[in-house]
Amino acid sequence: MATNLIAAVARFPCVIYGRGYRIESFLLMEVSMKRLLILGGGTAGTMAANKLRAAHPREELAITVIDRDDDHHYQPGYLFLPFGSYTRDKIVQPRRRYLPHDVDLVLGEIDRVTVEDQKVLLTDGRDIAWDALIIATGVEPRPDLTPGADSPDVHHFYDLPSAVALRDAIRAFRGGRLVVHLTDMPIKCPVAPLEFLFLADGYFRDRRTRHKVDFTYVTPLDGAFTKPVASRELGSMFRDRDITLEADFAVERIDPEAKELVSYDDRRIPYDLLVSIPLNLGPQYIARSGLGDELNLVPCDQHTMRADAHPDIFVLGDGGTLPTSKAGSVAHFSLDVFMANWPHYLRGEPLPHSFDGHANCFIETGRRKGMLLDFNYGTQPYTGTFPLPVVGPMRLLGESRANHLAKLAFRWVYWTMLLKGRPLPFTTDMMLLGKNVEGDSAGLTLTQWARRRLPLVTSK
Ligand SMILES: Cc1cc2nc3c(=O)[nH]c(=O)nc-3n(C[C@H](O)[C@H](O)[C@H](O)COP(=O)(O)OP(=O)(O)OC[C@H]3O[C@@H](n4cnc5c(N)ncnc54)[C@H](O)[C@@H]3O)c2cc1C
Repeated sequence: MATNLIAAVARFPCVIYGRGYRIESFLLMEVSMKRLLILGGGTAGTMAANKLRAAHPREELAITVIDRDDDHHYQPGYLFLPFGSYTRDKIVQPRRRYLPHDVDLVLGEIDRVTVEDQKVLLTDGRDIAWDALIIATGVEPRPDLTPGADSPDVHHFYDLPSAVALRDAIRAFRGGRLVVHLTDMPIKCPVAPLEFLFLADGYFRDRRTRHKVDFTYVTPLDGAFTKPVASRELGSMFRDRDITLEADFAVERIDPEAKELVSYDDRRIPYDLLVSIPLNLGPQYIARSGLGDELNLVPCDQHTMRADAHPDIFVLGDGGTLPTSKAGSVAHFSLDVFMANWPHYLRGEPLPHSFDGHANCFIETGRRKGMLLDFNYGTQPYTGTFPLPVVGPMRLLGESRANHLAKLAFRWVYWTMLLKGRPLPFTTDMMLLGKNVEGDSAGLTLTQWARRRLPLVTSK
């Protein structure tokens, strides 16, 4: 634990976080830590700063957020920008506006974390000491890691400049082979390449030029998605929309001269317009700090998000090794569990609350419809209704207008509620209610299922 001890009286507001998580109210406790450093002021870092500030006044806990700039990006908006439905002003807002006034925001590029003397060094020479550290610097697209993928004619939409360039390429596209390619998992929002395909299909249908475009989806997976039931349902949507699926494709390089994707077993897929989703890696400072795996992800406990490297380091958001989707919804649900464990961490106790890997992802399916996936570490996405059985109003793995409207409404929810840490009407733990359970979980009662998948709480 931190050596910089202060005795303080911590007052926790009485807030219920999701199902069954209650932060102890007005609890008298000894706080053995006062400087909390949050690396990254994106989705997870901003939510964490807001929730922790609501739990502690400044005199108990100094919170500093470090980010390289003051532009907070609503990344789900990158998907819509290539089709002209979103512009930059809907996607980018000042970071400072979404942080409490008494949280310090330091702008600078993180160079490394030193664990021995508990500091973070910035590339401009500044260093900042921490007693507890939250790593929330996410992952970033790395087209430079696949030969040919960083050519200007190879597109993606995983950052703002690339989404803008793709918008221009789509506007100029007069027909031919449009290939959407997934380099490898894990990527942020693993359904986003499929959403792009469905939106592109609807875009050309609306313009009555769909017959001029051949769609192909190229993936290293053996089906359209990582999980069997979703893969089956999405596969049938490919057939309905006349989209060709090229599975098991391990890309070796992209040849922009010949306009071909080339695999290690020398399969070649020609294209006229290529959207290739690059590898997503954690930032390079993670490697320089000796904190990451081969993808610069920080190994951490999948139930408590505590880093393997040090008991005072937690990893929130995309930057850790949680075996679930890299998604804002996961950041949100896991943060609820982190907050429930926080008072126990301060007291040096084992962390009793356990994250179940809950992910909740809306998929745009084009022409003003959408579908919803809801799953966790132990349960794949199933068909059904959400949040209520039969009535929904949202459909799981089925298309509906309500799903599409919910996805559009999420931008408002993100800026006004989610980032500020306000409670949302979703349970932190995934529920089986309303799901048509198939496969090895079918036939279990809810209690049997819950017992079987109840994760062990591990704590250091
Ligand atoms: C196209 C697309 C569509 C998506 N759609 C959805 C969706 O529909 N639903 C959903 O739930 N999620 C979606 N996501 C995923 C979601 O945006 C991410 O999961 C979420 O933003 C992760 O939050 P984070 O805090 O871990 O990382 P981020 O929000 O990416 O924040 C990381 C921060 O760290 C900063 N940083 C990184 N390295 C450094 C450094 N060296 N020095 C200083 N600062 C640094 C960055 O500037 C950034 O602000 C989508 C993502 C993309 C790309």
